[in-house]
Amino acid sequence: MSLHLTVLGCHSATPRVNAYPTAQYLEINNRHFLIDCGEGTQRQMRKYKVGFSKINHIFISHLHGDHFFGLVGLIATFGILNREKELHIYGPKGIKEATTIQLKVSKSWTKYPIIFHELESKESQLIFEDDKVSVKTIPLNHRIYTNGFLFTEKPKLRKLHIENIQQYDEIETCDFHNIKAGKDFTLSTGEIVSNEELTIDPPKPLSFAFCSDTEYKPDIVPIIKNVDLLYHEATFLKDREDLCDKTKHSTAEQAAYIANQANANKLIIGHYSSRYKNINDFKVEAQTVFKNTELAEAGKRYSTNSFPVEILN
Ligand SMILES: [Zn+2]
Repeated sequence: MSLHLTVLGCHSATPRVNAYPTAQYLEINNRHFLIDCGEGTQRQMRKYKVGFSKINHIFISHLHGDHFFGLVGLIATFGILNREKELHIYGPKGIKEATTIQLKVSKSWTKYPIIFHELESKESQLIFEDDKVSVKTIPLNHRIYTNGFLFTEKPKLRKLHIENIQQYDEIETCDFHNIKAGKDFTLSTGEIVSNEELTIDPPKPLSFAFCSDTEYKPDIVPIIKNVDLLYHEATFLKDREDLCDKTKHSTAEQAAYIANQANANKLIIGHYSSRYKNINDFKVEAQTVFKNTELAEAGKRYSTNSFPVEILN
């Protein structure tokens, strides 16, 4: 089980040299997801060696340009690279029209299938599930319809307690599957050996919550409770909380309150407004509430074990 998050871009909309808008690459339990796709995401993927062919699912939080204006370019590039595999895109209602009109007028129709999963529910819903990972929406409150996403590993089978199993000659290799699945074992005498005796707990499934642009919204806490890694936007410092009300964003302190209430293991903040020159002030403010806070930075790769941070460039 593993979870690695690579930040590709973490700034807000105003263009600046070396400041890319939101995009993240998530590797979780051998699945590879792209989350948001601001302008320049393709370049950042190249720079930080994210394999284009690994991406089969793209999750877009909302249709503000700094979160999705890189999408059509990436779709076109997949075509240039002779992609044949399906591409699944999850995002607000309207994303299909916004994307296909650009492909149509530029005559850039792809040969590979694109499957749009348009979202409009204001309740949390399961939008992706396979044998490794599930993804649920986290309804947010921004100026337009916006979701965050909760990515969770599927629970693993229980682990065999080999020493204890060896006490019973009757238990054979062909029984292991049932035991791993949590079943008790019945001996020929009729005696039942409890599954607890024969197995040990598997590692806890890991989870990552991506909370894109939103005003402070504590009612998301039950959805993301005990999350291992939480990304939460922090566009302003608390000195400009008035701008949060106006633009429906959060302060670093508010992001930290969410992490605290959710009992998150670690918080990453980003989407900094260009009005601030010293990004470290965001970390200082958040850490007054939630100590285990890191700043999002393009090229940083966050891993869950002990949360070591690698710099990729
Ligand atoms: Zn926005």
